[in-house]
Amino acid sequence: MNELRDFFQHQFGAAPTHFVQAPGRVELLGNHTDYNQGLVMALAVDKHITLAVAPRNDGVVEIRDMAFPEVARFRVDQIEKDPAIPWANYPKGLLLQLQQRGVKFGGFNAAIRSTIPLGAGLSSSAAFLVSTALAVRKLYPYSLTDAGAGAPPPPEANSALPPLDYMQKMLLAKACQAAENQFVGVNCGLLDHISSLFGQAWQVILIDCLHLTVNWSPLHGDIAVVVCHSGVKHALVGGEYNDRRAHCESAAKTLGVPSLRFATPEMLEANQAKLAPRDLGCARHIVGENQRVTEGSQLLAADKLVEFGRLLLVSHESSRHNFLNSCPELDLLVELAKTHAGCLGARLTGGGFGGATLNLVRRDQAEDFRAKMAAGYEQKTGRKLQSWICQVVNGAA
Ligand code: ADP
Ligand code: MG
Repeated sequence: MNELRDFFQHQFGAAPTHFVQAPGRVELLGNHTDYNQGLVMALAVDKHITLAVAPRNDGVVEIRDMAFPEVARFRVDQIEKDPAIPWANYPKGLLLQLQQRGVKFGGFNAAIRSTIPLGAGLSSSAAFLVSTALAVRKLYPYSLTDAGAGAPPPPEANSALPPLDYMQKMLLAKACQAAENQFVGVNCGLLDHISSLFGQAWQVILIDCLHLTVNWSPLHGDIAVVVCHSGVKHALVGGEYNDRRAHCESAAKTLGVPSLRFATPEMLEANQAKLAPRDLGCARHIVGENQRVTEGSQLLAADKLVEFGRLLLVSHESSRHNFLNSCPELDLLVELAKTHAGCLGARLTGGGFGGATLNLVRRDQAEDFRAKMAAGYEQKTGRKLQSWICQVVNGAA
């Protein structure tokens, strides 16, 4: 926080008035299910984007990022893409979404610091959007309704804003998703934004993307959540991600269901001949993932972590074989993880095509696991492995 405060002071010549923070997330189980109205389990983790902000009275937004040299500067009444600063599309897209809902706000200065690796599958993009939404709320208080902007929230006794309730979080998540879909150009679902907003310490977030409900289930046991970053950057914007989504939608259409949430394994087998091969592969993955999340939530509730871990391995195999969103580096990481006695399960997490794996490891063996993974990965690929033992944390505030 101090480092960011100093950076803000140095860049803007005055102190910030507010700080907001949004966590990244790890997708525990339920891969690419969110935009198929499916089921997914996630964890908010202790990697954050922090924004320091202060209002301006000239209608200008100026954003400086500790990780990027460019300065994004634009008027709130003239928000357009600038190809020279692609990362600014995230806050710009979100501000446009707020405006479309009738939220009124003026200019501000913002400085950004992040500990979420970009493009690793931990959803830095959602944390960036969510933190922007919360920063604007602090500076220019607003609330959302289904129909657009509502009355600003009444400040509490100490002039602080009331915490976001369930409804506000859900509406903000939708605004963030719309920004990513419409302005950035990634047809992502709601998983990332919901996770960053709804996280709770040492709880698994269970999201039903058909009914748009969120529940929590404690993550018991002496378990460490270890994330291993392959160092291979995925490129989600406009690419493979949207391709997989198109196959899922095409499969649902052929099956005559509103989304793959309504498809069953029997339906897939009966319609094998009708489905285009890639549509079939993608549908098998999604239908299987929904089943695994259902089974997995029962196992978690019964503290059957060994059995739960096995589902992670099946999920990865389905990514590799059916959905084709793995890559040799991720496969290697999962193979290495399997050989460690302390590892209960491992799979790619997030979009895939690079990025990171999630590993559930017995806590007392987590450091040994990291060391062995790093040695094995470097020996096979010549690449250094970055890994983290993640704490499961509360959502954005
Ligand atoms: P992921 O969300 O898995 O990290 P994405 O490709 O969806 O991967 O999002 C990464 C993009 O989000 C970056 O390329 C950058 O444009 C933007 N972004 C994320 N964090 C920051 C940050 N701290 N500062 C500026 N841009 C960021
Ligand atoms: Mg993202």
